[in-house]
Amino acid sequence: MLTCDHYLSPASLADALAAAAAAPDFRFVAGATDLLPWAREGRAGDVHVPVMIDVANIPELKEVRVAEGRVWLGAATPLQRFLDHVDLIGAMPGMPDCAIWFADSQIRESATIGGNIVNASPAADGIPPLLTANAVVELAALRAGAVRRRRMPLADFITGPGRTVAERDEIVVGIACDALNGYGGAFEKVGHRRSLVISTVCLSVVVRIGAEEALEDVRLAVGGVGPVPKRMTEIERALTGHPLTSDGLREVAGLCDGFVRSRSRQDYRKSVVPGFLRRGLVKAMRRAGASAAMGAIAEEVADD
Ligand SMILES: Cc1cc2nc3c(=O)[nH]c(=O)nc-3n(C[C@H](O)[C@H](O)[C@H](O)COP(=O)(O)OP(=O)(O)OC[C@H]3O[C@@H](n4cnc5c(N)ncnc54)[C@H](O)[C@@H]3O)c2cc1C
Repeated sequence: MLTCDHYLSPASLADALAAAAAAPDFRFVAGATDLLPWAREGRAGDVHVPVMIDVANIPELKEVRVAEGRVWLGAATPLQRFLDHVDLIGAMPGMPDCAIWFADSQIRESATIGGNIVNASPAADGIPPLLTANAVVELAALRAGAVRRRRMPLADFITGPGRTVAERDEIVVGIACDALNGYGGAFEKVGHRRSLVISTVCLSVVVRIGAEEALEDVRLAVGGVGPVPKRMTEIERALTGHPLTSDGLREVAGLCDGFVRSRSRQDYRKSVVPGFLRRGLVKAMRRAGASAAMGAIAEEVADD
């Protein structure tokens, strides 16, 4: 069971940071959808936290903005927003499929994108789409009586399973991303069950199609196959700059094994990733406006 002596719900970032500075032992919480299951008996056992600081009601952390080619996601943005915020759907085409596969609507209304990245599960679904949007994390902490803010790429923020560079009293304020309007996106996921399931493998694709159906920009990231989700940069490079061909797709599918680093169920994961790559590319290309003929290439290779 998770218990606390004091539950605080500060109305500003400054108040939250001050509360953390004043409490010798505290824990931040947002939707608590990771924290509660972790603290139930059988996992972390009974967990007592003297002070719980809930950051989910801080207006700055709930802000969502899309402007001038950038997206700002306050850390306390619930996953459901990727399905119902029109500007976000246009600017983050890799996210709606991810949100559909993320738990159910009840959890999606509580679970925050900030909690997902701070929890830093190797299988966190929100991380691969953020990596394909070149996400940068903004953190805030009180230092010498003033608020210190710093930013870093999401790829550097997560250092291992459950590990980030965030200091104990640092709050993730939000995440800045590229606005990918005009791209097509897709997210593929498999887990042990059909619904409410943590990914065994997940893969995010965003694609922009240029003249003569060349893949002008291809961004891919995979989760669940190693200690941290990763961009598949070698495959991105191989696909970018020319139209997709069946030979090209066969070649890059052969590179997928190199990304599978997990110790368990390696063969299974190695068999899943190339299929996700093909399927994700077809969906993303079609959504980016590619012709049916382009999609047919990936379908041809799917039968290999
Ligand atoms: C039934 C169920 C289904 C789920 N399905 C999925 C799924 O399909 N895919 C998936 O990826 N996850 C899933 N999860 C896990 C969970 O919902 C997500 O990881 C969620 O995004 C966590 O967000 P939260 O706001 O609930 O985090 P919390 O549980 O509140 O916090 C998680 C961690 O982050 C810290 N934290 C939170 N916000 C901040 C902040 N702004 N600054 C600093 N630290 C912070 C907390 O201290 C804690 O350590 C599921 C969970 C449940 C219970």
